[in-house]
Amino acid sequence: MASAETDMSLSIIPKRLVMIANTCMYPECGSIDTREVHIGANFGIITCQKHYPNAKRDVRKYCQDRNIFLIKNKADFPELLDLFKIIMSNFKVINDDNTVANKVFISSSGKIFKKDNKWYIEVIVNDLLFNFEIEKFKDDRLEYNKNPEFNSLIDNIIKRLDDGVYEDCKNVNSVNFNTYLPDVLYFESEDGRVLKLFAPGVTVDSPAYASYVEMAKTIFYSKQPQTLADHVNLK
Ligand SMILES: [Zn+2]
Repeated sequence: MASAETDMSLSIIPKRLVMIANTCMYPECGSIDTREVHIGANFGIITCQKHYPNAKRDVRKYCQDRNIFLIKNKADFPELLDLFKIIMSNFKVINDDNTVANKVFISSSGKIFKKDNKWYIEVIVNDLLFNFEIEKFKDDRLEYNKNPEFNSLIDNIIKRLDDGVYEDCKNVNSVNFNTYLPDVLYFESEDGRVLKLFAPGVTVDSPAYASYVEMAKTIFYSKQPQTLADHVNLK
């Protein structure tokens, strides 16, 4: 739940969640009592409870800006629920060779996405994942298509996807604040060991990262870590 003091004007860009500090990513927060809001594996936003509504919104915005809709959010999109009911109950895919595939499932970890101006949904058919063009549900060889309301349901879904499902994501500017947060960097040494480098304000995607790693390697291999002790701590 959004608390009264949550400032929803704060908006950030999700990032990879591997090997970064477990600190709320919102600017000047610094909370370490955090949870993660994911888009995919190891990608999303680390947030405290107070910024959780921001994180949920910013993950949706990231997807919407890139024409992706995560099926796990289907409760936000009632028309999709109607489609899924039909698909799960009697959907069949007619293949190019006119064979019919059934056993169709929609995984809650799947997505809807736009490619070449067409919307696709990931479906699992006979245990294989493939991308099905949503417009092609309007195939009058299919049994459910006898329902006169079905084609307009598909048209509504495509229109809503085109317009952007989430109103609260429009007119929000996301900023990549992450580079301003203190971070612990990890890198692999030439002998295969993983080294930990405390580099305040530097993240793996910031321009200074490469020079920090080079500096750390120089220290490590020269066995004189004290020479740059003011700048880095190798552990
Ligand atoms: Zn926070």
